[in-house]
Amino acid sequence: MSDRDAVALTRSLLGFDTVNPPGRERDCARHLGALLEGWGFGIAYHEFADGRTSVIGRAGGSGSKAPLCLTGHIDTVALGVSPWTRDPFAGETDGDRLYGRGSSDMKAGIAAILLAARNLSKKLAGTPGIVLVLTAAEEGGCIGSEHLARTQLLGNAGAIIVGEPTSNYPFIGHKGSLKFYAQFRGVSAHGSMPELGVNAIYKAAKAVAKLEGFDFGVRPHPVMGGPTMNVGTFEGGQGVNMVPDQASIGVDIRTVVGMDHKALLSRLKDLLGKEAELDVFSDMNAVWTEPEQEWVQRVFEISGRHLGSRPGARTATYNTDAGNLLKVYAGAPTVVLGPGEPQQAHQTDEYCSMTRILQSVEIYEELIRDWCGI
Ligand SMILES: [Zn+2]
Repeated sequence: MSDRDAVALTRSLLGFDTVNPPGRERDCARHLGALLEGWGFGIAYHEFADGRTSVIGRAGGSGSKAPLCLTGHIDTVALGVSPWTRDPFAGETDGDRLYGRGSSDMKAGIAAILLAARNLSKKLAGTPGIVLVLTAAEEGGCIGSEHLARTQLLGNAGAIIVGEPTSNYPFIGHKGSLKFYAQFRGVSAHGSMPELGVNAIYKAAKAVAKLEGFDFGVRPHPVMGGPTMNVGTFEGGQGVNMVPDQASIGVDIRTVVGMDHKALLSRLKDLLGKEAELDVFSDMNAVWTEPEQEWVQRVFEISGRHLGSRPGARTATYNTDAGNLLKVYAGAPTVVLGPGEPQQAHQTDEYCSMTRILQSVEIYEELIRDWCGI
């Protein structure tokens, strides 16, 4: 397979099975790292678990201004239960459509980032430069970027482009995410003598009822809307003739800009009481950059020339790694802009537009030139 242009590279990336779970990003990450190394990039790998590989590539760099970060994730979601009519790993094409798991979300975005980086690689020396952050395990909680944010590998960055699927429309933020399991314990007994036990499912059920009526007490954000909560899982009990001694619920909260996750968690702990043991496994603030911000205006101008009209202030519905990267790149203006089709993410027979892939290479190149002054 050829990696000569962004469409060909997308097809070759689709050939790596990075379905998460289990992930297995290592081979794909090594392939990306080898390409970048061949183009003169400095490379660092990071594995938060065996085979769960993220890669960071760096070129250029000058003291006066921090580099531009372009980021994307290597893993994809599962194929789902519905049968595919296309081979999810072969890169089948039909007209302008390129099919495959992860085509839109987001191997097309990774390929476009890489090709833009390659095209400018010889011009980056002595400029602020770029840092490419290609992560493992974004799907299901942004685990890879969460680990990266605890290393020294990210260095610094002055602005962030997240290549998630937006049909190349620049989104200036997205909601935050706070996800946790709440565990409830009881005492097991025979189902015919419940008075001898303590029922953990009753405790969990009461907690769910409290959460359903929870009021965030937050005014909706003018672009992002209001926060939401969903109880997504409910597990407990080992047999219908037993008093369950264990139950747990999984809670997914999407927050908006300005919300304090610590304060929210302590409110929820008070509400659920001491019986609930909370295990927070995803905690990322909302991402938001004011549309008037200087670099965002440049992004609007540059992408607008390709899109045919100047973009306005919109936010993505989904979460991205930016929530974790901003823990290190604090305050960096951030846009989500990538060639995939947002509606295609996680779909059966997922596809992306090949025209959009080539368009995003041009947009990324212009944004890199603009940032680096080349
Ligand atoms: Zn994605």
